[in-house]
Amino acid sequence: MDKLHLSGLTQTELADFVKNSGEPTFRAKQIFKGLHERRLRSFDEMTDLPKAFREKLNQTATASTLKVESRYISTDGTRRFLMKTRDNLPVETVYIPTENRDTICFSSQSGCPLKCDFCLTAKLGLLRNLTAGEIVEQIIIVLNDVYGVGAETPHGTNLVGMGAGEPFLNYENLIKALEIMSAEDGLFIVPNRVTISTAGIVPKIYEFAKLENRPHLAISLSAPDDELRDKLMPINRRWNIEELFAAAKEFQKSLRRGERFTFEYVLLGGVNDSDEQARKLANLLNRYNLEKVKINLIPHNSAEPLEYHPPGAKQVERFKEILESKGVFAYVRRPRGRDIYAACGQLAAKDAPNLVQLTSEKVKKDKSEKVGTE
Ligand code: SF4
Repeated sequence: MDKLHLSGLTQTELADFVKNSGEPTFRAKQIFKGLHERRLRSFDEMTDLPKAFREKLNQTATASTLKVESRYISTDGTRRFLMKTRDNLPVETVYIPTENRDTICFSSQSGCPLKCDFCLTAKLGLLRNLTAGEIVEQIIIVLNDVYGVGAETPHGTNLVGMGAGEPFLNYENLIKALEIMSAEDGLFIVPNRVTISTAGIVPKIYEFAKLENRPHLAISLSAPDDELRDKLMPINRRWNIEELFAAAKEFQKSLRRGERFTFEYVLLGGVNDSDEQARKLANLLNRYNLEKVKINLIPHNSAEPLEYHPPGAKQVERFKEILESKGVFAYVRRPRGRDIYAACGQLAAKDAPNLVQLTSEKVKKDKSEKVGTE
């Protein structure tokens, strides 16, 4: 049987675990700090715990489950990590440094059940949901790699849930991971420093709107009408633009001061980047009075074997100008880590043959567990 992964327990759950082990409750605090504040990856390094307890812990529990298989460093400082779970499934995480802050883009699922046509991860299908512990551990591994075990991060860390997978199809584990990561005695990454991106799981947007302590929300749109969105993001056949925008409107009502709400629009050269499509997009937002939404334009990054190609730089600017001329605020996301296949839509680009092979076997087995739009 798999050992219990303690990095995926909340402080309350850890206190129960320690109590059931017959140890004094303050040991729970020591372990939580060891795992999340000191970012230790084994109980043996927690020398403030008695040796006998560490040995006991090693028999039933574990401090780490993910293994880094490969790591690529881009000329722009971006780092891409290919990790494997205990059951040998791929997890990808990207570290993106900027002048004022660091951002870590984490995965919520291994593979993804949605079939966005412009995304390489989609080719893997869903392997499985990641546990809360596996989500948290990605951040711990990256911070240790960049700064050293337990060292403070100079600018603080922002997180984006935009790696592999659809976060809202792994909602409970995601919310639990966010709670663990926000603890002051631990990583102390509060929801205000986190952005979660969904492809449009409408019921979860309504649920998210009711959350007290929540991260910022981004919705991936990428088309101004149902016909094109059905093709680019088949989730649209389950919840179309009208349903998605009704949920977005409801979410807008729940926005509090300082919260960000964005629509992401992946610009695909010659597919969704025309002047007319820009006007259509602006009209759509205006029709639903989504005046608090900002558009994040993401020029597509080539990722073979996908046939899409990036839009021309001039057209990106034009698209942005048209939106702004109609009162819609837009900004362009600069691609990072292209040379190491770490940019949006490129995850799983390298080592893809292995992963795809692994997927087809695993998917057959897990067919009954599949969630999504197929
Ligand atoms: S873009 Fe996101 S939601 Fe769509 S297939 Fe890729 S990982 Fe899944």
